[in-house]
Amino acid sequence: MSGVVDLRSDTVTRPTPAMRAAMADAEVGDDVYGEDPTVTALEADVAELLGHEAALFVPSGSLGNQLGIRLLVAPGYELVCDSLAHLARAELGAAAVFSGVTFRTWKATRGLLDVDAIAELIAPDAGPYLVSTAAIAVENTHNFGGGAVQPADQVQAVADLARRYGLGLHLDGARLWNAHVATGRPLRELAAGFDTVSVCLSKGLGAPVGSLLVSTAERIVEARVWRKRYGAGMRQVGILAAAGRYALSHHVERLADDHARARRLAAALGADPATVDTNIVVLDAAEAATVAAKAREQDVLVSALGPRFLRLVTHLDVDDDGIDRAIDVLAPLVR
Ligand SMILES: *Cc1c(COP(=O)(O)O)cnc(C)c1O
Repeated sequence: MSGVVDLRSDTVTRPTPAMRAAMADAEVGDDVYGEDPTVTALEADVAELLGHEAALFVPSGSLGNQLGIRLLVAPGYELVCDSLAHLARAELGAAAVFSGVTFRTWKATRGLLDVDAIAELIAPDAGPYLVSTAAIAVENTHNFGGGAVQPADQVQAVADLARRYGLGLHLDGARLWNAHVATGRPLRELAAGFDTVSVCLSKGLGAPVGSLLVSTAERIVEARVWRKRYGAGMRQVGILAAAGRYALSHHVERLADDHARARRLAAALGADPATVDTNIVVLDAAEAATVAAKAREQDVLVSALGPRFLRLVTHLDVDDDGIDRAIDVLAPLVR
């Protein structure tokens, strides 16, 4: 694969030799018994980093989100999120299937929060005729919004709104690390005000598997029960937690390189660099699928996510030479 420049997603990274060594050396135990010291250490580290009481290691970001929803929204109630949210688009109806939860969505430019639109949408106590809203979900950074970082004042306003109406507030922070590096704001500040937060280790951080849900100690006890019920209680999984711990200590600050490379791609390919907050570049290209197919013939992989929507994601496994190659191949195709 060394000749291929894969910009489809930051999930395609493979563990580095040093990460593999950390995995091989991991102390492990049976985590369903709560006896895997590496998992327990990872959970404590992430809870501390995000300023919440406790954390739970889960196999995927989708499961982290779904456990969060399960804790905040009872069957028959609704969650509101934006129409491009990963929760709404990319989790295959899981909240409906697992939790009996419906969604309503607001429209957002680049996925950016708009507290007025949310205030208009919510129905906190809709009586016996309409579905009542139980929770609001925020995505930071926003995946289909092109890696956009949510503005701090809007996050605060949404948190205030949720509190005023007694609504739960979930943060899909799959790429919260990118928001942290892009803004310089501490992770605990970005995670403040939320009842539940999910974060991924397997996106830009480069771990092969793993996400965490953080919340209060009480909610995490309940999430642990639901994780097992969903069949995701894992045993000597410290091998994977070790990859996550390695990523947290070695792969966070370097996300700045991915962000710089994304800006370079955007500038060279005619996207507005002002729309590139982090590691995702969205190109508005006629016949996106054809562009992606032609680029693939030249070993450059990009995602066509809509008729005119090309997504390029920078990550650990694409260096400056790879960016040069991608620009050489893509520039004539998107012009
Ligand atoms: C990737 C991602 C997730 C979780 O994805 P999994 O593939 O289930 O790990 C959740 N939210 C966002 C915004 C994502 O980009």
